[in-house]
Amino acid sequence: MKKTSAKAQLPLHDQNHLFAALPEETKERLRILAEPVWLKRDEILIEYDTPLEYVYFPIDAIVSLLFVVNSGASTEVAVVGNDGLVGAVSLLSGENTCTKAFVMSAGFAYRIPKQPVHDEFHSDDNTLFLFLRYIQTLITQTSVTAACIRHHTIEQQFCKLLLLALDRLPCNNLMLTQEVASTMLGVRREGISEAAVKLQGLGVIDYHRGHITVLHRPKLQKLSCECYAILANETSCPPPSSPINIPVAAAYAARPNSLIDPKCVYCFRYGSCIYLKQNLIQATKKCVRSELEQ
Ligand SMILES: [Zn+2]
Repeated sequence: MKKTSAKAQLPLHDQNHLFAALPEETKERLRILAEPVWLKRDEILIEYDTPLEYVYFPIDAIVSLLFVVNSGASTEVAVVGNDGLVGAVSLLSGENTCTKAFVMSAGFAYRIPKQPVHDEFHSDDNTLFLFLRYIQTLITQTSVTAACIRHHTIEQQFCKLLLLALDRLPCNNLMLTQEVASTMLGVRREGISEAAVKLQGLGVIDYHRGHITVLHRPKLQKLSCECYAILANETSCPPPSSPINIPVAAAYAARPNSLIDPKCVYCFRYGSCIYLKQNLIQATKKCVRSELEQ
């Protein structure tokens, strides 16, 4: 597939959930400016304390946000895929970011110059709410990560990392070398190697030269710490009190191939699910999709 043909094959509003949930007028203005780009694995999109030129809406790429200390060691504080955008915090503050954005899994994204997105962010209440809601999920990721690296094992963290990546991919495999995984978790490579060997021995994954295929996702979830469930829920399920006023049914009908499961009455992803309109959301009800995976 020619990478230059991406724009015709990957309509932006069908592929990135955050962009899809923007008000129609905002989307129209930003779509004109959106440029499809192929993000190479290990590519650095945003460097620490460097002015932001573009923001990125990933399609099937996964970007890791790393905090780097003076020694050069780093730890992942959040991950961004088709659920959000890279550069969100700088849009809010207008200042340089304190994290480095690094491509964990290669794929397509759409990039848009920062300034017009910043202007939309500050000129429309619904757009502002959406971005703030997304930033809240980043804050949650950061908070959970702080506790996770202190209290959970490397194996649990590795399982969580794989699950969060798979949630942002249309398949059950990804390229992830042990070196990259150790950088993301801020641990020694040997720890990742031990975890990968154990998971392979249990039949949970197949691992070969950085190519990981998840063979048994329910087992992977059981071996992960509770942090995964918290983050998955936070990413996919904003509170039903959302003030967003969008034609939900129309939005859903316009994206029949989206990753939203029409059977799911809990996960309505930024107000884009048809069930939001039908008042089927119940705070205590579990996601149908998660029950099917048991
Ligand atoms: Zn954890």
